[in-house]
Order: sequence, then structure tokens, then C-alpha cells
Amino acid sequence: MRDSVRFAAYSFFRCPNPRTGEGEVRTIEQVVAHVADLKRRFGFTTHKIKAGVFHPDYELEVYRAVAAAFPADSLRFDPNAVWSTEQAIRFGQAIEGLRKRYLEDPVYGLNGMRRTREMARVPLATNTVVVNFEQLAANVLSTVAGGPMRYENGAIRVPDGPGLGVKLDRDKLREYSELYRRLGGYPYDQDPGRPGWAPIIPNDRWADPHDTRPVPFPV
Ligand SMILES: [Mg+2]
Repeated sequence: MRDSVRFAAYSFFRCPNPRTGEGEVRTIEQVVAHVADLKRRFGFTTHKIKAGVFHPDYELEVYRAVAAAFPADSLRFDPNAVWSTEQAIRFGQAIEGLRKRYLEDPVYGLNGMRRTREMARVPLATNTVVVNFEQLAANVLSTVAGGPMRYENGAIRVPDGPGLGVKLDRDKLREYSELYRRLGGYPYDQDPGRPGWAPIIPNDRWADPHDTRPVPFPV
């Protein structure tokens, strides 16, 4: 049906590399620069930003800055459902005037999503199931012999081999299997910079965007 499939850039706030101190994405300027870098390197014209880390007012500033920096591109925002319904409505209404945008899981549950959609003229998307067997299989397959699939002009060419068109790299699978045994599961909802913190919904204990203390990562 298609020769290539368009992808969205997937941008996160990031702690700096514990070895080099590089790669931090925390400030508004760093977020814009990170999005610009992904756009330059891979040709993306749609940018998804994983949010829900800092207070919604700060993340609204981030959203507006990225939208202003790339006015012709599409922008998606996903706070992982940690906002209250009121916060989701406030954020949604604040971005109503911006083109080509949608919110992913701004609030937890169908009723909160419905209420948000009623009050804000912003399309909503949902993908609350973050870890499942389908994604696990996709992750395993992404260790495709030959390395990750390459982006070209914001798209990935559909493989032309038999079946899924990918070949499992057994050495990579063994390497990451051993890494899993050593480090355990991916702490998706934990913040190494805030030990003891756990997500609650709606969240009211935001990370501090001005906190520059180094984060202790297992290495
Ligand atoms: Mg999501």
C-alpha cells in the first residue's frame, strides 16, 4: 500500500548523560534545540513531546515555544494522563489557536477525556497502555540485524523482505537480556532524581525545571 511510512519525532525532557554531562533537555531553549536537531537530522515535520514532568504552566511555555519555532509543523503533547481534568481543560483551551496540534492522554480515564474534549476545541488521542506484549515484540524486533531502521525525510521505508521484513539480531537480544537481569525492568514511571517519588493521578508534585543537581543513574 505504501513505499514509506511517516513518523513523528519523539522528544522527551532528558537528564544529562552522567558520564559526559551532555544531552540535557530541561529548559525551554534546550527543548527547542532538541526538536530542531531531530528535525535537521531526520526530516521530521511532526513533533511529539512527552510531558507531564514539570508544572503544566511551565510545559505550556514549552509548547508555545516549540509551536512558535516550527509554525508549519504538527505538534503533539503527551503528559501521560497525570493532569487533573481542570488542568487538561486549561491547557487545551490555551492551545486552541495553534494549528495542527493534539493532546495525547491529557487526563486519566474516559470521563476526564470526554470532559476535556467538551471544553477544549483540541483533538485528543489516547494510548494509555504503555507496556504490553505487542510493544514488547516490537522492541525485540527493533534490534534488527543491521541496526535500527533509518529515517529518511521523516519516514521509514517499509522493509521488502519476507514476513515483517526484519531479522532478529541474537547477539543484541542476548546483550539486552543480560542487561535486564542486571538492572531489572525499565522504571518507566520513576524519577532517579527524586527517590521515593511515585506518580499519582492527578499529579501535584512536579519536578523543578530549575533543579540542576546531577541525577544518579545506574551504569
Ligand atoms: Mg501516550
